[in-house]
Amino acid sequence: MHDYDMIVIGSGPSGRRAAIQGAKLGKSVLVVEKGRRVGGVSVHTGTIPSKTLRETVLNLSGWRERGFYGRAYRVKQVIEASDLMMRMHKTLDHEVEVLEHQFSRNAVRTQRGEARFVGPHEIEITSDSGETRVHSAAHVLIACGTRPFRPDYVPFNGVNVLDSDEIVDLKKLPRSLAVIGAGVVGVEYATIFSALDVAVTLIEPRPTFLDFIDKELIEEFTHDLRDRNVALRLGSAVTSITLSEAGKPTVTLANGRVVQAEMLLFAAGRVGATDALNLDAAGIATDHRGRIAVTPATLQTSAPHIYAAGDVIGFPSLASTSMEQGRVAACHAFGLQPTPPPEFFPYGIYSVPEISTVGMTEEEVSKREIAYECGVARFRETSRGHIMGLHSGMMKMIFSTKTRRLLGVHIVGEGATELIHIGQAVLNLKGTIDYFIENTFNYPTLAEAYKIAGLDAWNRMARA
Ligand SMILES: Cc1cc2nc3c(=O)[nH]c(=O)nc-3n(C[C@H](O)[C@H](O)[C@H](O)COP(=O)(O)OP(=O)(O)OC[C@H]3O[C@@H](n4cnc5c(N)ncnc54)[C@H](O)[C@@H]3O)c2cc1C
Repeated sequence: MHDYDMIVIGSGPSGRRAAIQGAKLGKSVLVVEKGRRVGGVSVHTGTIPSKTLRETVLNLSGWRERGFYGRAYRVKQVIEASDLMMRMHKTLDHEVEVLEHQFSRNAVRTQRGEARFVGPHEIEITSDSGETRVHSAAHVLIACGTRPFRPDYVPFNGVNVLDSDEIVDLKKLPRSLAVIGAGVVGVEYATIFSALDVAVTLIEPRPTFLDFIDKELIEEFTHDLRDRNVALRLGSAVTSITLSEAGKPTVTLANGRVVQAEMLLFAAGRVGATDALNLDAAGIATDHRGRIAVTPATLQTSAPHIYAAGDVIGFPSLASTSMEQGRVAACHAFGLQPTPPPEFFPYGIYSVPEISTVGMTEEEVSKREIAYECGVARFRETSRGHIMGLHSGMMKMIFSTKTRRLLGVHIVGEGATELIHIGQAVLNLKGTIDYFIENTFNYPTLAEAYKIAGLDAWNRMARA
């Protein structure tokens, strides 16, 4: 009846995982991608480029060794944009190659072009040369992701005023950078550039930032940023952004303060990339940010044979969760009952220092009126921390005093995004404080912080 069992629009994490899952179930799948190469925002402008830039910056700047050799220490004295780009492009090439191989191994067809609905089961694909073809499918997955929000009052010029897609194509490193938006992307880039000794100002209209993270962690993180001279301008809206004749941006805030920098990164949100999809033809609506509502358990849209997954459905907008959504959508479409996802998934923020968290924050636990106790470990209390020359970094664990169960783990510091998985396993397996106290951890490791924080909480609980 149809050309394909499933057409997937977009080759990012959710599209990729759905396509492979569908193919593994013996179904015919076509992935349509309008970008030059497969991989999506994740591979080309989001996750992988930003994490590769971060890794290169930390390596070339000698950041991880500065605790021992001092703030002036550098592995490469003069770091240029080309140094950062070289490693990034190599990494991206490798990512694309792996993905292309995965598609061909699993007989997933790919077609380059922009997809739009011309009927509930019919997708028109327009190539770069303007040629169009229509394919039909029993099921469609909308995995089109998002693009940066670009309000009219920001004078984007691709050189001094950039969005987060453009910054991964940097031609020259600025001496100073203003970042508007202290969400995950803004905070990551602000701290990565600060590690390069670029003078950074982080601007956020709200008085607080990263509100979904445990407050104590944010206090520690903020202290670290201030210590490194990252200027925080919180709690005041941007009233105007102007460009000098030389193209240098000046940001004026509602409280009268002015921020001048060589470069401005506007990172205040993203919108669903749904405008070109002609969703009316499929009878699907979007919200004011171009996002599509789905049934969370199945990822079906208001049209049951059309699914949506990834950033286009909103929170949590992570590559990690998008992949899982893609798998769930394909399983449901092809008659498998997908297992519900575990209760807790980790959140990683690849700022410098890293932040990672799983489970409830102290604020959530108190709001739910659960009797709890916290245990804290500082990385400088571990032998591994001494060896690495760490001066900062902390782990906080929260336990129920009634059931002794682990409720949340919150980490800021070196290796946080890797360390978190120990906490995630204990949490999802409904483990208690006893796991941390009774088990032996490799020595010397940063993971020993789990034991230290566990004992800290245990001592308090015992006293109570
Ligand atoms: C700077 C930055 C850093 C990030 N860091 C992390 C991180 O460290 N960890 C993490 O888990 N997540 C991170 N994310 C989020 C992560 O990138 C996204 O959650 C993920 O990419 C979303 O995947 P997706 O499946 O929605 O597709 P996307 O990766 O958004 O890709 C969508 C694809 O669809 C294509 N497309 C759109 N419309 C059409 C159309 N009409 N026809 C054909 N193709 C179309 C686009 O060209 C694109 O290639 C980051 C995001 C950004 C911006």
